Amino acid sequence: MPQIYKKSEHKITKDKIDPAALIVTETLKNAGYTAYIVGGSVRDLLLGKPPKDFDISTSAKPEEIKKLFNRCFLIGKRFRLAHVHIGNKILEVSTFRKGDNSNEALIIEDNEWGGEEEDVLRRDFTINGLFYDPQNETIIDYVNGYEDAKKCLLRTIGNPHVRFKQDPVRMIRLLKFRARFGVNIEQSSIQALFDCRGEILKSSGPRVLEELLRMLESGFADPFMKLLKEHGFLKLLLPKISESFEQGGDEDVFEFLQELDSIVLNESKKNVQRPVFISALVFPILERHLRLLHEGREKAMHLGEIGEESAFIIKDAFAPFLILPKKLLFNMSAILTSQFRFTPLEKKKGMRQKIPAIPDFHLALQFFELRSRIEPGLQTLYEEWDFFWKKHQRRPYRKPRRR
Ligand code: ATP
Ligand code: MG
Repeated sequence: MPQIYKKSEHKITKDKIDPAALIVTETLKNAGYTAYIVGGSVRDLLLGKPPKDFDISTSAKPEEIKKLFNRCFLIGKRFRLAHVHIGNKILEVSTFRKGDNSNEALIIEDNEWGGEEEDVLRRDFTINGLFYDPQNETIIDYVNGYEDAKKCLLRTIGNPHVRFKQDPVRMIRLLKFRARFGVNIEQSSIQALFDCRGEILKSSGPRVLEELLRMLESGFADPFMKLLKEHGFLKLLLPKISESFEQGGDEDVFEFLQELDSIVLNESKKNVQRPVFISALVFPILERHLRLLHEGREKAMHLGEIGEESAFIIKDAFAPFLILPKKLLFNMSAILTSQFRFTPLEKKKGMRQKIPAIPDFHLALQFFELRSRIEPGLQTLYEEWDFFWKKHQRRPYRKPRRR
């Protein structure tokens, strides 16, 4: 039987819940199904953090959910769920599914429906396994997650060795929660992390990449990357970056990450884009590589050559396990190459600041601003380029002349 915590105990008030999530749970309940708010948002509310998104778990099957909402799309093959659109919000609604505790093998598909307790038992950590019932305003706890949240303790649901082997991405998630919330990790999970870390290479590259990208943007990129390094995951996932860290390149990268974290946490209006975040991992390696190449040469490298080198270094930095989507590679390459337009490897006299006709120039400038915050000597140069860029954007559009 689950533990039930009343509102007088958990103190979560309904005004903290997204009204769109309340509409979805109410609609499902009125149609005779069970529906709870689940996972990350319940955890965040208990830890006193603002939740990002409100996921919903229900006894209704995907097709049944679809019938209840005007705008509802069924997505995912490995993990089938419904996206319900309410106003401008999209809510993830998933059907209760069976636990995976009987099977030690790597899970490829997870689409067998089950009851609400089974749905909790298949989840990763106890603090992620809590239901919030908006109708009764209670928390329903099958796994002692409520007490763990109060103690700030991260515990796997079930045996950590088994759970990490079933889905090695859970190990990366463990480090993510440690970085984000400073939670303590139970001893057996730390042991399992060391024993099972090699399994991470059997998991899905795109899922690991998504967790990595999300963490870079989270405001906790610096502690997260340090945890990846300390626990031996950096060497496995990003061998080239790890190698450069061992040669003393880590300080530069961590300086970038600290600055990015501070922007995310303190300057919410500043809209730093994903390619800018991830470029911070590669720029120090590229700069060192280009300086070495440049040293023995008589003629300066031109931007075309630098562009080719940066495309190679970016790919190499994430190989062989993580494969970046083409668009991201393209954006990063534009960002990184442009840095050597702002600060050429060799200073030339009388250089003119000319805004190039590349689509991602604003991203390159955003990265240059980041560099100038770390290296105050670049501040004036950044301001000049920024001024030119703004002036360039204000230029009236001129119709091309007909010939
Ligand atoms: P975040 O705040 O970063 O979104 P989250 O815990 O909400 O963290 P999601 O990826 O949104 O992470 O997943 C939602 C919920 O699904 C989790 O809280 C957890 O209950 C469950 N879950 C996610 N990934 C796994 C996994 N690999 N194994 C088991 N359960 C998982
Ligand atoms: Mg979430």
